[in-house]
Amino acid sequence: MSIESTNPATGDVVDRFEETSDDEREEHLERAAETFEEWRETPIQTRQRLLATAADVLRDNAEEYAELMTEEMGKPIGQARDEVQKCAWVCDYYAEHAAEHLQDEVIASEESARTVVAYQPLGPVLAIMPWNFPFWQVFRFAAPNLAAGNVGLLKHASNVPGCARAIEDVFEQAGFPEGAFTTLLISSSEIDAVIEDDRVSAVTITGSDGAGRSVAETAGSQLKKNVLELGGSDPFVVLDDAPMEQTVETAVQARLINNGQSCIAAKRFVVVDDVYDEFVDRFVDAMDDQVVGDPMDEDTDIGPQAREDLMEDLHEQVEETVDQGGEIELGGEPMDRDGAFYPPTVLTDVPENAPADQEELFGPVATVFRVPDEETAIEKANDTRFGLGASVWTEDLERGERVARQFESGLAFVNELVKSDPRLPFGGVKDSGYGRELSRHGIREFVNTKTIWVQ
Ligand code: NDP
Repeated sequence: MSIESTNPATGDVVDRFEETSDDEREEHLERAAETFEEWRETPIQTRQRLLATAADVLRDNAEEYAELMTEEMGKPIGQARDEVQKCAWVCDYYAEHAAEHLQDEVIASEESARTVVAYQPLGPVLAIMPWNFPFWQVFRFAAPNLAAGNVGLLKHASNVPGCARAIEDVFEQAGFPEGAFTTLLISSSEIDAVIEDDRVSAVTITGSDGAGRSVAETAGSQLKKNVLELGGSDPFVVLDDAPMEQTVETAVQARLINNGQSCIAAKRFVVVDDVYDEFVDRFVDAMDDQVVGDPMDEDTDIGPQAREDLMEDLHEQVEETVDQGGEIELGGEPMDRDGAFYPPTVLTDVPENAPADQEELFGPVATVFRVPDEETAIEKANDTRFGLGASVWTEDLERGERVARQFESGLAFVNELVKSDPRLPFGGVKDSGYGRELSRHGIREFVNTKTIWVQ
């Protein structure tokens, strides 16, 4: 069987890849298990040095990798270049800090000669990854785990097989041993068998909550540690004293980054009555100014949606919201051109429980809600089953931090768009999942936190 990748801007086939056969899958799992036994004994300094080399490989081939991402899933080329640089950053970050994050913790005790907490690797970890940041999501998992002494098995989204192969090649070029990082080109129906395999120790998934539930169920039945980084419907709260120019500028960016397909994109704009009309007028104008077009073109702000079916699903959510009484201030119809292009769209007067109120809208569609005051704004912000990120906009930083602490989310930003950063923990609560990636918290997810008592 072969897998095709398709350019969503044109509908043309980019490339074809052979699926990993059952025999190859068996070989890969066996090699991963064998390599783990050597890799865990390899000094952490060596593992860190190889990660620094992986960062160099990424930087040396940045243009090639950026073009591959844009071809396979349609992100604007400038954003694809930034993504490659961010992958190099996370490799450099763990190349520098892994040993410090995993160093033994000595706990003084009068009864023992020595009590130590050691952080030891778990084994091969399966990573199920999405197409939206096809390099970054994978490196965010791979860099800390390879540094910690685990080995990685990647099941990437079916529409980005070229990226999946290219990432495996980055680690090979950097000099990692065979089996340290392996791409499996398999369908999602084969995932359960991999999770259930005795050689696989743990699993992480970034994707929809439906896929997350399925993975957690299988991992749970096997008592295997899992991390879930699922969707979000992040609120962007605008208070009466928000610095309006900066707020609107960032609101547009926060909604449209990556053609609107980011788990931490701002999706629900919650605006207090005093500044609602001004915000909506300015926001609609600024959304309308965005250039939609060929993602390879340097001037393009928004490319196509990553797949035709995803665009159709998004449009259905918009139509259903309008049927229930929502108003379209801008956009709202697929664009009349080849490719999966959906325009910047703004919805208002959205009733409670409509799709734009309760579901994740994974595309360039913003929903703006009017609320009377700060207290109601916080209630509305938290009125969702998701809990990934949230932001609040105000001139008063103390007020901002107070509101941020009341968000039911894993990430809360004041006067800044929600973003990931290798130095800071990343992850959600509620239906956005559990566990953390990045920082010292991320590198400690898939380790055995071992107590050693010496009498
Ligand atoms: P999925 O969640 O279906 O895909 C993400 C990854 O999970 C892919 O590798 C996919 O493989 C795999 N997968 C799919 N179903 C299962 C399953 N039952 N068990 C194990 N793995 C599975 O996302 P879609 O691409 O279909 O996008 C649908 C929606 O998901 C989006 O509109 C968005 O709302 C959300 N999403 C959220 C992301 C985030 O960053 N949190 C990223 C991507 C999507 P395969 O491609 O082979 O199906």
